[in-house]
Parts: sequence; C-alpha cells; structure tokens
Amino acid sequence: MYMQIKEFEFIDKYLSQNAGKRKNVLLGIGDDCALLNVPAGYELAVSTDSLLPAVHFPKDTSPYDIGYKALAANLSDLAAMGAEPAWASLALTLPKINKLWIENFCAGFFSLLNKYSMQLIGGDTTKGPLSITVQVFGFVPKGKALLRSGAKPQDLIYVTGTLGDAGWALDYLLQGKETKINKNDIDYLLQKLNRPQPKIKEGLALRDIASAAIDISDGLAADLGHILKSSNVGATIDVDNLPLSSALSNNTTKKIAQKLALSAGDDYELCFTIPPKNLVRLEKSAKQLNCRFTKIGVIEKQIGLRPKGITQTGYEHTWR
Ligand code: ADP
Ligand code: MG
Repeated sequence: MYMQIKEFEFIDKYLSQNAGKRKNVLLGIGDDCALLNVPAGYELAVSTDSLLPAVHFPKDTSPYDIGYKALAANLSDLAAMGAEPAWASLALTLPKINKLWIENFCAGFFSLLNKYSMQLIGGDTTKGPLSITVQVFGFVPKGKALLRSGAKPQDLIYVTGTLGDAGWALDYLLQGKETKINKNDIDYLLQKLNRPQPKIKEGLALRDIASAAIDISDGLAADLGHILKSSNVGATIDVDNLPLSSALSNNTTKKIAQKLALSAGDDYELCFTIPPKNLVRLEKSAKQLNCRFTKIGVIEKQIGLRPKGITQTGYEHTWR
C-alpha cells in the first residue's frame, strides 16, 4: 500500500491537477516562476509560515490535519490584514514520498484552498526531515490593510470566536488523556486545534471598522502585546470577559480556562481594536456575518497590558 512515487509525478498528479484556477495568473505551476498580475487598485499582502512536527503540531497529527493547518495558519495572517486570499505556494520537505500520506495531506490542504477559491501557483519539493512552508498572497484595496500600528487610546478591544480551546486540546494530547471528559467536548476541542477556521470574512468586514488587528497564534496576551507595542499604547482587559466555549468551561476550572484563553496559542482568532464611533457598524456586521465579536477591554495611553480580574495559577493539568 505504501508506494514510492517520483517527484515530478508527484507534482503533476497531486499538485498541478488540484491547483485551482484564477484570473490574474498568467503562468502557474510548471515553469521556473509563476507570473502574476495584481488587480488595479489593490495591494498585494504576502505572508509565510513554516510548520514543523513537534513544534507546530504534535508528531502523530494526521496528514490531513497537517495539510489543512499549514494553509489555515497562513490564511489567518491574511485575515488579520483584511486581505482577500488569492494565491498560495507550497515548499514541502518530505522524508519519502508516501502515497497515502501525500493523498491525505493534499486532501486537507486543497479542501481549504478550494474553499477560498485560491490557486496554488508553485513551490518546491525536497527530500529531508518533514517540514511544510506555505506562502499566501492576498489582495487588499490600496491603503485599506489592517495594521498592528493603528490602535488609539479609547479604542475598544475585541476578539472573534472563543479562546483557549486549542490550548486545552494541545495539553490534552501532550500531557496524557483522561476518560471522564465528554466525547463531544473532546472532539470539538481537538477540532479547534487541528482544523482552525481562518477568520477571513471577519477580516474583510473589519477593513472599514477596525483601527488595528492581529491574529491570535501565540496567545492573546502576546499577540495583543504586539498591537500595543506597534501602536505605542497600553490596555486594560477584563479577564472575566474573555469568551470561553462551553466545551472548555465544562472540562476545566474557570481559573485554568481563563489562563488558557489569555496565554495559549493556536486559536487563530482575531484580536482587533475599533474607535468607539464604529460600534454600531461593528454590531451590524456581526449580525450580517453571524459571527461572534466579544469586547474584552480598552486601549489606554499608559503603556503596558493590565489584565483585570486575573487569579494567579501554578502549573496544573488543564482538564482538572
Ligand atoms: P525548479 O528546479 O526550476 O525550481 P522544480 O522542478 O522545483 O523547478 O519545480 C517544477 C515546477 O513545479 C515549478 O513550477 C514549481 O513551482 C512547481 N512545484 C514544485 N514543487 C511544488 C510544490 N510542493 N507545490 C507546488 N508547486 C510545486
Ligand atoms: Mg525548485
């Protein structure tokens, strides 16, 4: 069943044939370079993320989830800029070309590529210890990108979705498993870790509403910290307002759930700031998009991040 195939066969069979098609691509996979046109009136937003086993995903993560997550993590960066996804490139280093592994990896990768009608425009394939590097390219109308540097005192701080779920799932996988937990909750939380949903439509809607944005890949405190630093401001956030899923709340103490929401990575939600005058527009767009925006704090002139209502916790297993 495990069959070795050659690199060019691999590129043709698994990549070229699934690459998708978009206008503005003059030349896709197959030559020395791709040739691309950025539509008039738009800027090109570009981002790269690498995924390594044991660093960015647990070693026994399924190839489907690895393929999915490699693209999802990159798309999350486009979402945070308010960019519309267009193209991707894929640099793959594989220990060997294993047919079953590749098929599943591609199924995960292309499920997301197709969801956003993107085109895979090139890449590289080499032999070595597993590593996946994806580069994404998106369009944003000139001058409309959401930067980290735009937050102003009095702006309100929001996050999308719920926080801490992926962090719980990672601890669950790494620290050992317990059977008391409800199976639906485990499935939900593992799904949050393995198949994060990049917040593309939210990012697009926020273009004209938010003053600054970032995606939460390293934990809220760290990532909001980047906005504060770039914007040269500070913030107070209310830890009791951090949005928690019921799956998370059901399976751990409030203290630990809040700690995960504040500091665990991998959620790929957005954290953004809005001037108070844009509140009505934000609420309207939340209804239109049917998505969850939660106010968690306010930007202040005084430098630093001040979490209100936090209880210090020592090391504990996250599901107790
Ligand atoms: P070169 O040696 O000129 O860099 P390659 O043989 O590496 O060319 O690649 C041939 C074509 O296949 C190129 O267009 C390249 O972009 C594409 N390609 C190679 N690997 C991948 C990959 N993992 N994903 C997408 N396209 C790829
Ligand atoms: Mg090459």
